[in-house]
Amino acid sequence: QLHDVSSIHDCKIVLLGDSGVGKSSLVLRFVNNTFSPWQESTIGASFLTKTIVVDDMAYKYQIWDTAGQEKYHTLIPMYYRDASAAIIVYDITKPETFDAVKAWVKELRTMGSPDTVVAIAGNKCDLAENRAVAVESAQAYADEIGALFIETSAKTAENVPEMFRRIPAMLPASV
Ligand code: GDP
Repeated sequence: QLHDVSSIHDCKIVLLGDSGVGKSSLVLRFVNNTFSPWQESTIGASFLTKTIVVDDMAYKYQIWDTAGQEKYHTLIPMYYRDASAAIIVYDITKPETFDAVKAWVKELRTMGSPDTVVAIAGNKCDLAENRAVAVESAQAYADEIGALFIETSAKTAENVPEMFRRIPAMLPASV
């Protein structure tokens, strides 16, 4: 399948959320289809890229991970700037990481552009026996702020490609 390179849409995606929720793991699952139980909190590079085709349109995703800076809530403005989408991640077994989603939304809205669309990922859904955040609570909050909500597992890959592939449909038509 050939695509005219001039019609590749650039799409910067930033990952937000507390340390340890699985941000780097989600990026590595999506980009490389790998998972490491010993994943370090940083992917080293500032971003990874992957080009995907959704509904006959090509998107070059530039996916930014926080490289551990989220621990100090000191993400640099460049991180948010020009982001088409933000994926805010929590761990379904850790309720405090879900509470923190609200603070991350606030931070994004303060530091970033109002045009950045938001997806909320309840990660580690493979650990559902230890669930501490109900699907209904997360869905209700996502509805309230007009965000996509999806539960994912970077470990099993459940819903990881789906989450990234749903971003184009959320973007304003002009992107
Ligand atoms: P980050 O600090 O948000 O980037 O989180 P990491 O990607 O470094 O992941 C933190 C820890 O959680 C690592 O030990 C990962 O292997 C583990 N982890 C990440 N995603 C999942 C998942 O979906 N399921 C399980 N069981 N563990 C995960």
